[in-house]
Amino acid sequence: MLPRGANREEILDQLEALGGLSPENVRRVSRSSGVPEADVYGVATFYHLLSRPAVERRVCQGLSCWLAGSERTLAELSEAGIAVEAVSCLGQCDRPTPQLGHRGELLAPEPRGRVTPDDPALPINLGGADAADYRALAAARQMGAEAFLEQLERSGLQGRGGAGFPAHIKWRSVRGQPVTERTVVCNADEGEPGTFKDREIMLRRPHRLLEGLAIAAEVVQAAEIIIYIRGEFRECRRSLEAALAIARPHLGETTVRFVLGHGAYICGEETALLEALEGRRGMPRLKPPFPTESGYQGRPTLVNNVETLACVSEIALRGGDWFRALGRREAGTKLYCVSGHVRHAGVYELPLGVTLDELVAAAGGYHGRPMAFSPGGASSGFLPMSSRDLPLDFRSLAEVGSMLGSAGVVVLNDTIDIARAAWWQAIFFEDESCGQCAPCRIGARLTRRAIGRYLDSGDPSHLRHLADIGWEMEEGSICGLGVAAPIPIRSAMQHFPESFRPRAHAPNPSGQEPR
Ligand code: SF4
Repeated sequence: MLPRGANREEILDQLEALGGLSPENVRRVSRSSGVPEADVYGVATFYHLLSRPAVERRVCQGLSCWLAGSERTLAELSEAGIAVEAVSCLGQCDRPTPQLGHRGELLAPEPRGRVTPDDPALPINLGGADAADYRALAAARQMGAEAFLEQLERSGLQGRGGAGFPAHIKWRSVRGQPVTERTVVCNADEGEPGTFKDREIMLRRPHRLLEGLAIAAEVVQAAEIIIYIRGEFRECRRSLEAALAIARPHLGETTVRFVLGHGAYICGEETALLEALEGRRGMPRLKPPFPTESGYQGRPTLVNNVETLACVSEIALRGGDWFRALGRREAGTKLYCVSGHVRHAGVYELPLGVTLDELVAAAGGYHGRPMAFSPGGASSGFLPMSSRDLPLDFRSLAEVGSMLGSAGVVVLNDTIDIARAAWWQAIFFEDESCGQCAPCRIGARLTRRAIGRYLDSGDPSHLRHLADIGWEMEEGSICGLGVAAPIPIRSAMQHFPESFRPRAHAPNPSGQEPR
């Protein structure tokens, strides 16, 4: 007889192997794991890829795909009798509109977008060859952990997952913990709509990522590395597994293990990710304690994003001052994703702090007359073109009430109704709220409903409580999702007030009415 919950961590993978959620599968997983049936069921219903096994096609509804007509794609598939489901973002904004097939296979209409051509002066250099010599790991070992941390601090590297937190502080915190059993977790759960840069690193530069992870494990003295990859990125996992087979002799005793996500945007939040790793619903934890003190299984845990880790090896080889000097107001280069109304959507490595025009010039120019842009995914809201000269960095965007986030830049031209775009983002936040905080759970629903009613009736009085709802969400939410959810509608109303005046009822181009 298994003790209760003995193999809790495996329940999600077991359910996936059995084909997803069903009463029989829940019984079998409960028996083999020791986790009560009700608990297995409760966890599995949290994850899109497990909870509805009968779905034949999952159609991306991220902002860039919406601009390209994803609502129509969804409606056409549904009319054809295919069991479809709308999903928030499949991380393929450079080739709208992708779908996920029944077995998790990616069905994308176009090849992936462009990247910056080979330039050895760039720290990540997506266009270059992915050397597997592990020279940087050797250099970091030779300089020693404290000397490397000194270089990391001098580099000014900020976390590239969205928060922009100084990397060296996290690393030092884990290294300084009294508990010696420590873990490094790579957050490869890239899910912010508009963002697909980590995907390109994993596909093009897997050794650069593995080397960064190996250096991190050495410096914080962790014996274990876990790479948590979103479930929709199976190709990335294969790429990393192939690279790991080559890298293995360089890694000493350090273990490396892959865990696939099961479809939940919120698991990109580091504590939600830890919950998912431990076989629970991916609901963010209250902080403190921070993961650096008590993370995976209560151990000190370094959680870093893919891009952050990919910067590390060149810092080891060329030094912190070199990296810092590559940026403008803030340090280093940045992988900017750009999609929407531009000629060549893709991932461009540029100095941190370039302007929108500089970024779009790298992407071949605007498509049509630009009206607005979203500088850092859904959470960053919308800015008008009068902000086109603003440096796209953490501080400058925070100063105008937006954020760089993961630098998923989406451009909207003047054919777009910004009120409808804000409603679209509100749907995203309602769908992806984990539901544990009432202000976020209820506020996201009320926000989506208010904008929908305005679009449906043309009566702006439906929008009158949005500021209060947004305040409640900001004040009463545990994690950044609840804080960010009011930003799209607030910024749209602030910068485009003419789009929220009384208007005639205009049917949705897809033929579907606002929910
Ligand atoms: Fe979940 Fe929203 Fe609360 Fe974050 S703010 S923990 S997403 S309910």
